[in-house]
Amino acid sequence: MLGLYVHVPFCVKKCRYCDFVSAPSDCAEREQYVDAVVSEIAWRGDRSRRCDTVFVGGGTPSVLTEKQLERIADALRRSFDIEPGAEFTVEANPESLTYEKAAALKGIGVNRLSIGFQSLSERALGVLGRVHSAEKAVEAFKNARRAGFENINIDLIFGLPGEPEGEFENTLRRVAELGPEHISAYSLIVEEGTPLARDIMSGILPEPDDARDRADYRFALAFLKESGYRQYEISNFAKPGFESKHNMRYWRQKEYLGFGPAAASFERGRRYSNTDDIGVYIKGCGRAEPEEDAALSKEELMDEYMMLGFRMTEGPDLEHFREIYGVSAAEKYSGKLDSLEKEGLIERYKPDLAGVRLTEKGLDFANRVFREFV
Ligand code: SF4
Repeated sequence: MLGLYVHVPFCVKKCRYCDFVSAPSDCAEREQYVDAVVSEIAWRGDRSRRCDTVFVGGGTPSVLTEKQLERIADALRRSFDIEPGAEFTVEANPESLTYEKAAALKGIGVNRLSIGFQSLSERALGVLGRVHSAEKAVEAFKNARRAGFENINIDLIFGLPGEPEGEFENTLRRVAELGPEHISAYSLIVEEGTPLARDIMSGILPEPDDARDRADYRFALAFLKESGYRQYEISNFAKPGFESKHNMRYWRQKEYLGFGPAAASFERGRRYSNTDDIGVYIKGCGRAEPEEDAALSKEELMDEYMMLGFRMTEGPDLEHFREIYGVSAAEKYSGKLDSLEKEGLIERYKPDLAGVRLTEKGLDFANRVFREFV
């Protein structure tokens, strides 16, 4: 089984914290992009390959018209054997998720929406440079529900510069009241070169406060648990049965193909990605050779499997590891696992070394654990 990812590199306006491959665009450029991505999908398509997850992300896929989104969905269906009932997610931002767009997405077989709220505080939305208001975000969610979506994720960010006590808490409470099936809550990363980083460097904004960030995270863990969401990854929480199958594919090192500028693919132990230059991508009709291409050795793949697996609250799947690599991870990594356990960052939670996962302390210092496997 394969996952398919399509990157839509357009947004209404660039957010102040964003370093993703995305930019404002005009109608002509969006149409050229759709021509190119449809051509890439057809070129790389293989009807013998079965797929059980599709994810159209960005950027802001909801800036495309209904017709353009339909062309992409049709191209994927024509070129791959997509399972009936496959998880089909589209990312949307509040300013472009009208009822009509949500209904059109439902009509083309999308069964999961991921909406970028980031916050319901107008102050926070201003700091992040988002183009929508909190009211618009709630309206977008209601549009999605009215169009019949029963599987919706809301993306949030916490730990913002100058964040007053209670701001994130208030957002999270209001979001939980809406009752989405899935919530992603990420700690803000200040990316070099972004307007937000420059404001912090020049003292216009304060540095994000680590203590505030950790307090927000701990609040999210406790509050979302109480509210019926199960944490299944460091930053992801779902009602039972609504975990993101596509994202789990990344954390379980399963194969996927990515289409569009900067989209990454992983198959047969090889990682490669498309050019991140939107103009170059369009000019080449999406058929240029990958820019970054690396065949990973078995050792590298095993290390990566462990690193990705520790993102999940159940830890790396050691049985699956043995099936694919033919060795016991518990034995191969016993030294590293022992020392991480001594530091209180991981715990063995099943008999016979069948399960290892991050502890509560490990969730706060996950990067320290990942470094052991890089
Ligand atoms: S909407 Fe997302 S991808 Fe687009 S600019 Fe903002 S953060 Fe970046």
